[in-house]
Amino acid sequence: MTTINIQNLVRKNILELKPYISFRDNSQFENPLLMDANESPFGEFNRYPDSTHRNLREKISAFKNISANQIAIGNGSDELIDLIIKIFCKPKKDSVLVTNPSFAMYGFYASINENEVLQLNLNDNFEIVKEEFLNIIKENQPKILFLCSPNNPTGNSIDDIEFYIQNFDGIVVVDEAYIEFSEQKSCIELINEYPNLIVLQTFSKAWGLAGARVGTAFSIEEIINLIYTVKSPYNVNVLSQNLVLEKLNQVENFQNNLNDILKERDWLKNQLEDLECISKVFPTDANFFLIEFKNAERVYSTFIECEILTSKRFPQIPNCIRINVGSKKENEKLINILKNI
Ligand code: PMP
Repeated sequence: MTTINIQNLVRKNILELKPYISFRDNSQFENPLLMDANESPFGEFNRYPDSTHRNLREKISAFKNISANQIAIGNGSDELIDLIIKIFCKPKKDSVLVTNPSFAMYGFYASINENEVLQLNLNDNFEIVKEEFLNIIKENQPKILFLCSPNNPTGNSIDDIEFYIQNFDGIVVVDEAYIEFSEQKSCIELINEYPNLIVLQTFSKAWGLAGARVGTAFSIEEIINLIYTVKSPYNVNVLSQNLVLEKLNQVENFQNNLNDILKERDWLKNQLEDLECISKVFPTDANFFLIEFKNAERVYSTFIECEILTSKRFPQIPNCIRINVGSKKENEKLINILKNI
């Protein structure tokens, strides 16, 4: 167990903050009149959602075998990233460390909170160079380290991730948005060993609920309570909470869809590797491929002409386009277009 005092890492104003009491504890009543929240007595969705996400956290708790008190639910994991930065980073004082390239929202939210964003450049295989990591944290003492594994947009997982957690005195956020597609172990099992660790997961990717906006944070209870202190009262709506509860009752369906995506990923990989216009297909543990093209501009504009949207917003990795695995029909269409380039 690492000896890190979380209280010393939290912004003082946040420690002093009293949460806005927005939950209705009616568990001791049988059939109470609900006249406390200025809601309408009419309509199907007239009641506010449960701000503490009790049922959902209990369901996830049973599914993951982790205490419900160690789970926080956000309006997508995006919201959780924003809240974590606000809890720990003093504006204009603290900095965050991100790998480069990685998911852009860490830097985006840090910039909004006026925190410097330090970049740890990945090597040509998109790996972290340990020595560079140790140097940059020694020199700058960033407050939060964001590790994305599998990493967006590169697709690879971080090797020896515990090394970075062990060697960092601030908060380590391991973003596992794509973990279900990977054979790597989740870091969730480390949260009781490292009190400064927060693991993020989401229902947007493998669970197929991007439209519902539900993300999950796993950590020690103290950090989870801080998230519940600073979050907006009704951050996850009734429909979304119910949708996730339903999904968690149909795990077989989730497994089948996941297996289909993994099969399609294999098929796509084989097809892509044979194509003339491609110089490299990077290995992936996620549901997307980062692909280096001989002429990425031409490929990208051909995609646009064919009404296929892909992502090439990565100035650090020129000539690369990120393409996610679609349905069989979509993947076949993509490959046919690429064959004619
Ligand atoms: N983390 C990573 C690495 C992502 O790629 C994404 C979505 N693109 C998110 C977090 C945000 O996910 P959510 O839909 O849960 O906000």
